Parts: sequence; structure tokens; C-alpha cells
Amino acid sequence: MTAEKAERGANGRRFEFCPRFRARGSEAAPRSPPHPGNRHPAPRALTMDVYLQQHRKYYYYQERLDTFQNWPFVTECTCTPENMAAAGFIHTPSENGPDVAQCFFCYKELEGWEPQDEPLVEHQSHSPQCAFILLKKKIEDLTTEEFLKLDKERVKNIMRKQVAERIRTFEQEAKVARCIIEDLVTKDC
Ligand SMILES: [Zn+2]
Repeated sequence: MTAEKAERGANGRRFEFCPRFRARGSEAAPRSPPHPGNRHPAPRALTMDVYLQQHRKYYYYQERLDTFQNWPFVTECTCTPENMAAAGFIHTPSENGPDVAQCFFCYKELEGWEPQDEPLVEHQSHSPQCAFILLKKKIEDLTTEEFLKLDKERVKNIMRKQVAERIRTFEQEAKVARCIIEDLVTKDC
């Protein structure tokens, strides 16, 4: 593997403390040719209901595959839509991240894909505890009890993600408020 995926944070930004963080932006050299046709507006924030109910369909391979309509890597590569979907990913592009893919189960988001990347290997590397990739049975072969137990883990994962996102938002707002207060105090002095 020559590429190191960049993990995206709970609110769509990458964790800056992550050692795998890769600079991205107008100064960063593009890693692959731009795909103007693949640009999408930033998706609206998903509600809990969407995650809980609608995302349940992504247990089906075909539903995951259908999200990769505008995926940049199709031929002469290993991270094809088929391999991405088989590894549990769905395509969740944003305005500045056309190649963002997210595991529908552990909600790990990865971007910065290279054509020769192996989706399952990347998934295992970045989210080794993901219960979906650790499954020993096919989804269709699970009993109802086994499926409900599995889906409970998915719900826990999304709740953890949402709580982390709210904490991060709160901390950012607190930082801004602190700056404003300090600025006011300085002006008064
Ligand atoms: Zn996962």
C-alpha cells in the first residue's frame, strides 16, 4: 500500500492529532486528477432517524454498491466500487472530499484513496474492532437474535459518533466565547 488514508473526524474534519493526518487544501498537491463531475454539495447533517432506520439498508451489498455511482476509481484499480461495497463502505462525498467513504457500521470515514488500495485491508487497519468486518457469517445467514445483537452495536457506534461530534462543537463554541471575553477584557484595560 502506498497511500495512507486520512481519517475524518466525527464532524467531517480529520483528527489533527492523528499521525496519519495528511494536509489537504489549496496548497496540497493533488494526489489524483481532479474529477469535476464528482463534486457534490456538502450533505445535510443526518438525523439520528436516518442513521437508525435508513442506514439499515446498507447491510445489503447492492445498496452499498449503489452509492458508488460517482466513485473516482473504476478501472485498473483495486478500490473499485465492488470491492469498496464488499468491505462495508458506502460513498459519502462532500464538496471538498469527493473520495470520502464511510463504513455503514462503525462509521469510520476514510479519504485519500489510491487506485491500488485494498478496501478491506484499509478498513481492518483503521477500524480493527468493526463488528461488521469481523462477522464470521453472511448477513443473510444470521438469526434474528444475532442480527438484532449486531445492529445494537451499529447503534452504539453512531451514538458514540454523534456524542463526540456534539462535544467537539461545544468545545469549539466555548473557545470562540473565551476569545471574545478575553478580547473584551483586554479592551477594558
Ligand atoms: Zn466498519
